[in-house]
Amino acid sequence: MSISVGKIMGVKIRLHYTWFIIFVFITWTLASFYMPDQYPGLTYEVYWITGFISSVILFSSVLFHELFHTYFALKKGIPVPSITLFLFGGVTQIAEEPQDPDFELKMAFAGPASSFFLSFIFGLAWLLALQLNLPPIITAPLNYGWLINALLGAFNLIPAFPMDGGRILRAAIWKLKKDLIVATRIASNAGGAIAYLFIFFGLFLILFGGLILGFWFILIGWFIKSGAEASLNQTIISQALSDVKISDIMTKEVHVISPNEFISDAVENYFYKYKHGGFPVAEDGNLLGMITIQDIRKVNKERWKELQVKDVMTSSEKLIKSQPEEPVASAFIKLSNHNIGRLPVVKDGKLVGIITRSDIIRAVRVKTELAGKR
Ligand SMILES: [Zn+2]
Repeated sequence: MSISVGKIMGVKIRLHYTWFIIFVFITWTLASFYMPDQYPGLTYEVYWITGFISSVILFSSVLFHELFHTYFALKKGIPVPSITLFLFGGVTQIAEEPQDPDFELKMAFAGPASSFFLSFIFGLAWLLALQLNLPPIITAPLNYGWLINALLGAFNLIPAFPMDGGRILRAAIWKLKKDLIVATRIASNAGGAIAYLFIFFGLFLILFGGLILGFWFILIGWFIKSGAEASLNQTIISQALSDVKISDIMTKEVHVISPNEFISDAVENYFYKYKHGGFPVAEDGNLLGMITIQDIRKVNKERWKELQVKDVMTSSEKLIKSQPEEPVASAFIKLSNHNIGRLPVVKDGKLVGIITRSDIIRAVRVKTELAGKR
């Protein structure tokens, strides 16, 4: 539900569809209410231009904030596949769970710190523009720039996981208790509680006449609540799977396709027969790649009889793989972050099994149903 708009530092920048709605809404709010209120007596055109520029400043500021998180992640060697800008800001998608609390602390703090820094720069520019007696079409967006960045920094410091403040809280508890899962649970619960505070306060405001502000509080509360729930689910899954290794639940009898098989034969003898979405390609037990329905669909049907599996497969070097000794939670994170259905399990270059989303879901169900029964 988002479109790609370019790359910065090798990271894909995406816009969520809600971004467009909120961009128009914010420009309208600024042009119709905020600017006329702050700078009375200007023309309709000036209000819309300053509203539009201010909206652009808001969204660039959010991107700036996210890029700072990204910079720290990349510096530490943690891959960042994409940044998505949406409703209330951005989400930097990080491919791995954090490694240690100190780094998590630094990375979480980088975002709000960058927003406060930007607020300071806008503030200086604004004061300078006032000194030079520049018109409101310039001073108004600068004024808005320092204010919105200060708000952005403060908003992200709310201790509600998965927001930055919640990450800082989690890292602090993690450092104290030396347990990531316990820390995540506490930080998520704090997030849930804060979300309800926002929602109740919003309802309270609406009851007493503050309709628009109340509406914003409810929306923010709902946003925090859904984030807290999602991260708690992730915690429950990792908790259920904390002592399970990939080798415990992977499928060991894997149907393997030979690299020299023709596509037409592979479709007939494997895809139609076993009804899996993808198969590992191996020779003498060595994993060479994976072939999926998507790979085959890229090839014209007339060529199925001339092309071989090795011509269309994704080669082993490009594959996301896992190892039998790895915890299942780590396979789950890889599958979700790369949005793929299955991971080949490899030991010393040899294919030893395959693990799928449904293997993991089944394991979680069994584990949670048996919880407390031993
Ligand atoms: Zn942030």
